[in-house]
Amino acid sequence: MNSCREDVYQKVAALLQNIKNKRGASLALTGAGISTESGIPDFRSPGSGLWEQMDPMETLSAQVLRERPEEFYIRGFRLLTSMKDATPNLAHQILAKLEEAGYIQGVITQNIDNLHHLAGSRRVWEVHGNTREAYCLSCRWRGALSELEQQVAQGSIPPRCPLCGGNARPAVVLFGDPMPVAFNEALEAVKKADLLLVVGSSLSVYPVAYLPELVRHLVIINLTPTPQDYRAEVVLHEKASQALAKIYDRLEGKGL
Ligand code: NAD
Repeated sequence: MNSCREDVYQKVAALLQNIKNKRGASLALTGAGISTESGIPDFRSPGSGLWEQMDPMETLSAQVLRERPEEFYIRGFRLLTSMKDATPNLAHQILAKLEEAGYIQGVITQNIDNLHHLAGSRRVWEVHGNTREAYCLSCRWRGALSELEQQVAQGSIPPRCPLCGGNARPAVVLFGDPMPVAFNEALEAVKKADLLLVVGSSLSVYPVAYLPELVRHLVIINLTPTPQDYRAEVVLHEKASQALAKIYDRLEGKGL
């Protein structure tokens, strides 16, 4: 880790600039920490993380959805729908601007809160699904999560597919679910990338936590230490919005 903060932001900016100049690829990998400044609690932050109130591996598990749907729709589902009014913060906005300016080629996100899309990011791999959509387990209907929300509010648990009446569920990857196609796409993109900019992830949920091992240049912005800090070129233990603003400043020579 570098001790001179000012040089560190410049170092990240120079890495992004050099890779852009050489027509290489840089990607961001984000986790729940990028959205805490939008008011959505993460899992593992001491004091505020959801882990302190519940066990997400139980509340948001495929097994509970399958075997105890009442429990899932009373607790886990409420957690998923609670994110819908959140708005992107400066960190999401800067990643969208970095993509627009050609410094990064996309964002791989573990988040399900839709905030990268709302901030204007165009290439987003949602490797843990999203809270916009739902699908049917019988006929493969795909529609808005709000359809399920209305049914659950009226006491219809589990909610039904509007087409065939089969069981419908949120398009979120729950603990115990297989990984979606987006993860394989993200994996291929990372294999070809020169740099991965991790923002707000404890890097403790696999298989996503394996991605940083695949790149030559690794930069980590996270409030607390991660298991991959030892192999990162730059580690910034500070708020995502602050660190990204300083990096963006050095790239563009202006404030946001
Ligand atoms: P995590 O909770 O395990 O780790 C979040 C990390 O972010 C922590 O290490 C914390 O120190 C750091 N952090 C918190 N606020 C920060 C800030 N302002 N700036 C920089 N760092 C900050 O989250 P994870 O690694 O994403 O893995 C947990 C799983 O949680 C993911 O699978 C994700 O799907 C799910 N999740 C998503 C959301 C969301 O969509 N917003 C919210 C909670 C959990």
